[in-house]
Amino acid sequence: MLTAVADHTERPMSASLHHPNVDPSEVAKFESLASRWWDPDSEFKPLHDINPLRLDFIDARCGLAGRQVIDVGCGGGLLAEAMAHRGARVTGIDMGEAPLGVARLHAQESGVSVDYRQASAETMAAEQPGEFDVVTCLEMLEHVPDPGSVIRACATLVKPGGHVFFSTLNRNPKAYALAVLGAEYLLRMLPRGTHDYAKFIRPSELAGWCREAGIEVREQSGLVYNPLTRQYRLSAHDVSVNYLMHCRREQP
Ligand code: SAH
Repeated sequence: MLTAVADHTERPMSASLHHPNVDPSEVAKFESLASRWWDPDSEFKPLHDINPLRLDFIDARCGLAGRQVIDVGCGGGLLAEAMAHRGARVTGIDMGEAPLGVARLHAQESGVSVDYRQASAETMAAEQPGEFDVVTCLEMLEHVPDPGSVIRACATLVKPGGHVFFSTLNRNPKAYALAVLGAEYLLRMLPRGTHDYAKFIRPSELAGWCREAGIEVREQSGLVYNPLTRQYRLSAHDVSVNYLMHCRREQP
């Protein structure tokens, strides 16, 4: 796995990857795994497992049907496609070419329409400010050099009064033990090096960036993994490892 990642990073990057807030080595990790994105027993199993939970969390708070949605860092399209199935008009953006290719093929096969584009949140925010009812940016902030910049871009993309959803990994010893040591080393759910602990984000930090960007935090919810049952559940109280945050852009 590590060899595959290393090989990939040595390939010349496409010009579009030279955005200041893109870490090419982070994007390369996902490029090399992209073909397995929709295999529920692959490295992407955790994303498959949490997908119904986060989809319901989002839908219950914004009502996806008929909404204009942008999914930032959409990868192979697990969430983007699921939101389109619920009746949302979805744009999915990512900086990885291979995940987008997989996402496009899969959408075609499942007969659902999603507009996938290779773009950064910042570029989209400059081009389409205030055009989206809902912005989702899940499991992505911990892979970028400047998460605050992505959060500002998400706040710009959403209409006044619209909804923004983030999810990421908390930064504390328990999150390190479970998300890095547990998932990458003990259970081998994820390839080693998938997550860089230093980039994990405390809910207070995420909330601070949201406030600075003019979006108000409404609610947070943990995504809690039970290693015995191997299942996830939402928890309003336990945000110690993986968590979701629901925000709304203030009205002018
Ligand atoms: N949001 C998806 C995928 C998460 S994996 C889900 O939760 O199912 C993280 C994704 O972020 C990868 O597809 C990776 O290519 C993408 N990514 C990393 N840095 C990025 C950046 N700066 N801009 C856009 N996408 C980025």
